[in-house]
Amino acid sequence: MSTSINCKNVLIFMGPPGSGKGSISQKLKDKFGWEQLSTGNLCRQNIAEQTEIGKIMDFAIKSGKLISDELITSMVIDWFSSSAMNNETVILDGFPRTLCQAQQFDEFLSKSNINLKIVNFLIADDEVVKRVSSRLVCQNKICQKVYSEIAIDLKPQVSGKCDKCNDSLIRRADDNPVCIKDRLLVFHKHSNELIKFYKKLGRLFIEVSCQAEPDNVFDNFIKLLELPAV
Ligand code: AMP
Repeated sequence: MSTSINCKNVLIFMGPPGSGKGSISQKLKDKFGWEQLSTGNLCRQNIAEQTEIGKIMDFAIKSGKLISDELITSMVIDWFSSSAMNNETVILDGFPRTLCQAQQFDEFLSKSNINLKIVNFLIADDEVVKRVSSRLVCQNKICQKVYSEIAIDLKPQVSGKCDKCNDSLIRRADDNPVCIKDRLLVFHKHSNELIKFYKKLGRLFIEVSCQAEPDNVFDNFIKLLELPAV
């Protein structure tokens, strides 16, 4: 792991599916021009393009299971070394998700001067089930913008169409009631270990309640991270 890293700040977004990590990332990208790496989006892109790793990931993703630590960590490290990554602040949405990934990534970061912050998105499980059951995503794997059938802030302007690229909106294969419960179990199994790991290292750890509508959560997020309210 000798790759160098070109950005100054890395924000790790931790939280269960549907907690709003993707929506808040999108707002931060729009407002501050930050870069976002969603490992879930990257996996789905690989599956759509039928790359070699995409073929390995397909079954795990559809059944709500995690991809192997080695595969995910090497994908993230490759992404950081790509020439496209030249931004001051990078949001990691959905990585690390296990203690092993966190340890490997921390070792990678230890060779740089990165300012690392961990943001933990807090939300009740029943709210997750409600949100994920009503989630729609743009089927264009380059876009994958997230919408909701119920949250007013997240409804598409034209029903069934993406506001950004006009492609069709679909439901993710793993956003079904059985998978959502499995994904929540997987999340809870790993999250305590991750929290302990980062707290023990003394990393800056911020908790954001995500029960409210995305716009309110975003305003609160801006205050907690002491960002300019431009
Ligand atoms: P997400 O879009 O973040 O809900 O992720 C969707 C799926 O991608 C997960 O259920 C996993 O199968 C896979 N995935 C994304 N990030 C990771 C990760 N850090 N470790 C293992 N699997 C991941």
